[in-house]
Amino acid sequence: MPPPLAKPVTPATAGPGPVASGSAAYGAGVLAAAYGATSPDSGLVPLTVARRTPQADDVEIAVEFCGLCHSDVHAVRGEWGGKVWPLVPGHEIVGTVSAVGSAVTDFAPGDRVGVGCIVDSCRECESCLDGLEQYCENGMTGTYGAVDRRNGGSITQGGYSSSVVVDRRYVLRVPDSLDPAAVAPLLCAGVTTFSPLRHFDVEEGDVVGVVGLGGLGHMAVKLAKAMGAKVVVFTTSESKVPAALELGADEVVLSTDETAMDAADRTIDLIIDTVAAPHDLNPLFRTLRVDGALFQLGLPSEAMPPVNPRALIGRRIAYAGSLIGGIAETQEMLDFCAEHGVVADIEVVGANQLNEAYNRMVAGDVKYRFVLDTSTLQAPAEEADA
Ligand code: NAP
Ligand code: ZN
Ligand code: ZN
Repeated sequence: MPPPLAKPVTPATAGPGPVASGSAAYGAGVLAAAYGATSPDSGLVPLTVARRTPQADDVEIAVEFCGLCHSDVHAVRGEWGGKVWPLVPGHEIVGTVSAVGSAVTDFAPGDRVGVGCIVDSCRECESCLDGLEQYCENGMTGTYGAVDRRNGGSITQGGYSSSVVVDRRYVLRVPDSLDPAAVAPLLCAGVTTFSPLRHFDVEEGDVVGVVGLGGLGHMAVKLAKAMGAKVVVFTTSESKVPAALELGADEVVLSTDETAMDAADRTIDLIIDTVAAPHDLNPLFRTLRVDGALFQLGLPSEAMPPVNPRALIGRRIAYAGSLIGGIAETQEMLDFCAEHGVVADIEVVGANQLNEAYNRMVAGDVKYRFVLDTSTLQAPAEEADA
């Protein structure tokens, strides 16, 4: 088994301490300061990551900001299983190019760029050739916690880090007009909600329901509004009723209020469900019109209550899932956001606030996305001494 790329550094000596070497075949490049978990119950602690020396097609990026996705919480706490420790999360990455490999002509040092959830895929299967790298038949390579199929089989480490090295094919251009910190959440929360909205061809006159007003949910509201839809938010949090209206929703339904749910019967064309915990979908199906669809985006770690087929059959309703978005679609989403002035509503946090931010996210206490300012990470010893 290849050595992991990251090794823990005790918080008392954060920065200095042991550094894991990169794959021998690719050389150890920049030492990056990072925060990650050493086990499912360690919380996030300072780590040092050895990034590979940029290969011909690589782009080395000085990370400025990284969004905190609920998927990071699921992964770091071992709720989805199958991860290798230590684990540096983060797949909503924005930064500037610091170096490029010899074959890279489309990016240059100083360019502002982004990296989302995908850093590689097989590039040959039908899905990859269709620009649907997220559904790669041979498995996409996730930005963290995945086996890096081309670089010595090491484990990928994410963006809670001062730098990343990514193949140019998976690097996005971040429009200059958008605030870089507020752009970061678009790389996952943005494209994950943009993709099903586009797949359903949402346009003016459609009614889109958004279930769960967190990081994904608030992006769904903004994007659906920008596409011309009427937006109805379904929330379990009474405090988010006025907040959703401020965000641009046309209507808000407190989903725990049965009378309000009854009143929403047959009013919605498309539901984007972003809830991070198990919940009953059957009351939501009742709000859909004939030929309506519910796209489930949230991936709770525990089983959901069963779906009643009668609810689907009675109105020819489609119950679907959707995973992030492909690389070309992510670029399309970023350009769409620049055109419509859409960014996330964020709260910027420092590295020492990450664990508290996770707890607040689980408690639903964020409007609407935490973003890590990576300048607060401590430099590894070799860099600190320079
Ligand atoms: P988030 O910011 O924490 O928002 C989740 C929202 O779900 C909460 O704000 C809350 O909204 C609602 N909720 C209702 N009951 C809940 C409960 N018991 N526990 C937690 N949340 C509850 O999370 P996120 O980053 O938007 O991610 C949402 C889910 O999507 C996660 O499961 C994540 O792993 C998944 N995800 C999937 C994809 C994909 O490609 N499909 C991509 C990214 C993330 P209200 O207060 O309004 O009810
Ligand atoms: Zn995510
Ligand atoms: Zn593929």
